[in-house]
Amino acid sequence: MGGTLLPPPRAFPTPRVRAPNTGHTVGEGVALTDLTMHKTALTKRDGRYITYYDFAPPGQVPPARTEADSLTGDPLTKGPELRWNPLLGEWTIVAGYRMDRPQLPRQDKCPLCPGGAEIPSSFEIVSFDNRFPGFVRGAEKPDMPSTELYPVEAGRGVCEVLVYTEAHTGSFAELPTEVIYRLVHVWTDRTRDLSGVPEVRCVYPFENKGREIGVTLDHPHGQIYAFPYIPPRIERELGQTITAERRGSCLFCDIIERELHDHVRVVAQSDHFLAVVPFYARYPYEVHLYARRHGCAWLPDLSSDEQADLARTLKLITARYDRLFGFSFPYMMVMHQLPASASACWHYHVEFYPPYRSAEKLKYLASVESGAGSFLMDEYPERTAQRLRDLEPADVPAPAVRVR
Ligand SMILES: [Zn+2]
Ligand SMILES: [Zn+2]
Ligand SMILES: [Zn+2]
Repeated sequence: MGGTLLPPPRAFPTPRVRAPNTGHTVGEGVALTDLTMHKTALTKRDGRYITYYDFAPPGQVPPARTEADSLTGDPLTKGPELRWNPLLGEWTIVAGYRMDRPQLPRQDKCPLCPGGAEIPSSFEIVSFDNRFPGFVRGAEKPDMPSTELYPVEAGRGVCEVLVYTEAHTGSFAELPTEVIYRLVHVWTDRTRDLSGVPEVRCVYPFENKGREIGVTLDHPHGQIYAFPYIPPRIERELGQTITAERRGSCLFCDIIERELHDHVRVVAQSDHFLAVVPFYARYPYEVHLYARRHGCAWLPDLSSDEQADLARTLKLITARYDRLFGFSFPYMMVMHQLPASASACWHYHVEFYPPYRSAEKLKYLASVESGAGSFLMDEYPERTAQRLRDLEPADVPAPAVRVR
């Protein structure tokens, strides 16, 4: 039943496997600039949070962050609600109030640029509570009564927007590796923070890129959903890994070993990560990026070397995507990390779902995919993996900074 999906909140767990502090190397003779991450969390007048992340060499102090507001709308009076689908056994997030929310005065300026509607002045990396969220911290009980057939819950959780850079143009692939590396630190910190919110059970960072995915803001940014339940796809993966664990194996270790052995679906491999077009890919250019180390189950588990490696591998994959058909390649990029409330043999991984199957053709989720839940693949993963593997760049250097 729906009610069982919202257990009493658990204390924020310490990382399951303490990552060894292996330091960070980029080869002989390369001098690294040490940086310290500074974080300032402020509250906007409408009650939403905004967190600034600044990076500065030790001993240097970044600019003081005191402004939380640019243009502020009214606080949300009504939160989203969760409605239980008894046939599928899953929640639908109903955020109908998004339609009624008072609009801000019209602005021609991008809301994610410094001085736009959301961020008052210059910044490095910023996260803030989404103005149009699917979940709200401490959302009130919905008006709709909950019944045995149709359980209803308040949509309590957090939805954040994560702005990668103050530069309006460009994309994730065009960010310097150093900036992606800083982002890895921010994703990790947001994961820790949001896992500590009592109603949160699963922190899910993602990026929708491109008009084809419905993105209306071009400014490089991603989002984080902190779910009050384990979302169905992750729950299903968890179920499978737990079953495998009972047989004494880790599914992720098995997949990594098999992919390294077959090698035909490998797109990129490094000391700590493996990128493949999965054997069972549902999109022609789908790529999954797995942490290779057993025990590296969520972002806070990553060692310093693994963080640097993740940054350069993400850069490599997205840069090759842009090369593939010669245009900025749209995708959904999602992170599957072990929910704080769960325990299983799990490897942190990133999944990319690009909608293009060729330079002109999009893959639509039509009747078989949407209505039956089965995907038809128009290509062999071995072929698309080779195409991606053969593209430039062949490699990306590790970031030339080290965040301590
Ligand atoms: Zn902008
Ligand atoms: Zn494993
Ligand atoms: Zn997954």
